[in-house]
Amino acid sequence: MINRAGNSDSRPARDEKFAAGTSADDTHSGFATNEIEKASALEVLPLAAFNDNYLWLIHNGRESLIVDPGDAVVVERALAARNLKLAAILVTHHHPDHIGGVMVLKSQFDIPVYGPRAEAAKIEGLTHLLEDADCVSIEALDLQFDVLAVPGHTLGHIAYYAARQGWLFCGDTLFASGCGRLFEGTPAQMQVSLQKLAQLPPQTGVFCAHEYTLSNLAFARAVEPGNAAIAAELERVKSLRAQLQPSVPSTIARERSLNPFLRCGEVEIAKAAGEHARKDLRDPIAVFAELRSWKDDFRAS
Ligand SMILES: [Zn+2]
Repeated sequence: MINRAGNSDSRPARDEKFAAGTSADDTHSGFATNEIEKASALEVLPLAAFNDNYLWLIHNGRESLIVDPGDAVVVERALAARNLKLAAILVTHHHPDHIGGVMVLKSQFDIPVYGPRAEAAKIEGLTHLLEDADCVSIEALDLQFDVLAVPGHTLGHIAYYAARQGWLFCGDTLFASGCGRLFEGTPAQMQVSLQKLAQLPPQTGVFCAHEYTLSNLAFARAVEPGNAAIAAELERVKSLRAQLQPSVPSTIARERSLNPFLRCGEVEIAKAAGEHARKDLRDPIAVFAELRSWKDDFRAS
């Protein structure tokens, strides 16, 4: 299932080796996305895992939670390095690179494991089953999440939105400058899911689960070569990656300005998709479907 462009848009990964060797540590510097975050003394850290995954660790110096622990060893190392306790696990969807460490961590910490009810049969260890519009409260961190159903990449995929902090943990649905592949859902489902995320406040931090940004930007540039925001972002991300820094989190505002999959209603995007399909495309769902199919076979030149 490997894309020739080298960008899998998150295939299920069972056999990939731990490859955090791009950094001296298994983490990168944390993010202070707004004043509220600083006031609550919460930090969000990306834990690098496998080839290009980020497991997101949120902590307050004592307690922590992990989003999509694909690899328990990566999480254990980060907890030990900071002397943190693990209070909860959040899961977005059933792919192995997102759930591979759940049972090991659960057995060590005896903690709640939140995940999508619709995928409960595929995710061992869930203790709390979630649906769209549910709320999750993690008392140890004084942190609340709204649950958003975002089917498309998988049928039961959910995202976690912390409104107070302005954080969105969206798994493999929305990526920086791209989106996940449609393994289970339809283009119409994914288009609705992405538009739901696009309506969140512009300053919302987008904490996605993979480092795919450079190849996503190469595709965005091919679709919309006249978009100056894409060119500027390419330079920013190249510089970050040259320093082995993560390109994420992004923001909803940035994604709305340059992510072709959020811009299917734009005339330029529809025109580019139509030229690629060699037919007139206007309906945003048809435009999205064409873009997704184009990206599946895209090779950056
Ligand atoms: Zn996935």
